[in-house]
Amino acid sequence: MTLQTPAGLGHPEMAATLDTQLENLDLAGRLALAAELGRAVFTTSLGIEDQVITAAIGTHRLPITVATLETGRLFKETVDLIAETEERYGMAIQRFLPEQDDIDAYAAKYGLNGFYDSVEARHACCHVRKLKPLGRALAGAEIWITGLRRGQSGNRATTPFADYDSERNLIKINPLADWDIEAIRAHVAAESIPVNPMHARGYPSIGCEPCTRAIKAGEPERAGRWWWENDETRECGLHVAENAVRGEGEPVVAPMGQPAASPIPQVSVVL
Ligand code: SF4
Repeated sequence: MTLQTPAGLGHPEMAATLDTQLENLDLAGRLALAAELGRAVFTTSLGIEDQVITAAIGTHRLPITVATLETGRLFKETVDLIAETEERYGMAIQRFLPEQDDIDAYAAKYGLNGFYDSVEARHACCHVRKLKPLGRALAGAEIWITGLRRGQSGNRATTPFADYDSERNLIKINPLADWDIEAIRAHVAAESIPVNPMHARGYPSIGCEPCTRAIKAGEPERAGRWWWENDETRECGLHVAENAVRGEGEPVVAPMGQPAASPIPQVSVVL
C-alpha cells in the first residue's frame, strides 16, 4: 500500500496538514483517518493510554496492526494484560522479542543488569531489547500510532497529533496528545477497559521491571522510569530522533514505507 499523499505535498507538509485535521476529530475518528492513509501500526506498552487506543481499535474493528515489544524484562502484570486484552477485544497483539544473540552480547559486555551502571549501558540495553524489535514492528509501516500525551512529562509537552518521523520515514500519529490523565481514567472507567493493576499501586508509567518504580505524591507521571538517572529528559528512545540525539544531519527522505537512506549507523539513543 502506498501512502495517499495529495499531489505535490511532501511528507512533512502532509503531517502538518494532518495535525490540523486530527485536532477536530474524536479518538475513533482520528484512528480511522490514520488507518485510511496507509499501513498503520500501533505500538502498545499496555499502559493506560495505550489500552484506550487498543480498545478503540478493537471495538471499531479498525485495520490497524497492534504490536508490543516483549523485552523479556516486563512485569508479570503487563504480560498477563496482553493476553487479557486479546481475549477481551478478540484481537491478536503481535509480540516482538529481542534476539538472544544480542542479549548474550549485551550481558557479556555490561552484565545482565548493567543498565544501572551508566547511561551508555542503559541505552545499549534499550537498543537491544526495544529499539531493534521496534524496527521489526514498524517494517513496512507508513503510519505509526502511539499513546504519547502532552501531560506525561515536560519532554512530551509539545507532542503534536501528527509529525513526520524522518528517522523511520513514516508519519507518527498521537491520537491522545491532548487527553489529560483524568480524561483517560474516566474513559477507562466508563468503557470498562482492562488496565494494568499496578496503576492503582502508584505506577502511572510502567516499563521493564528493573527500570520502573512507583512514584511518590506530587512526582511527574514518568518519574518512576530510570529513576536513578538525573537527566529529566530521559526517554526510552522509541520516541526520540536518533540523529537529533547524536547531533548529526538529516537522513535522505525515501518513499514512504521504506527506510530512509542514511549514512548514520543504527546506535542506541537517549532513552
Ligand atoms: S527499560 Fe531497562 S531492562 Fe528494559 S530495555 Fe531499557 S534498560 Fe533494559
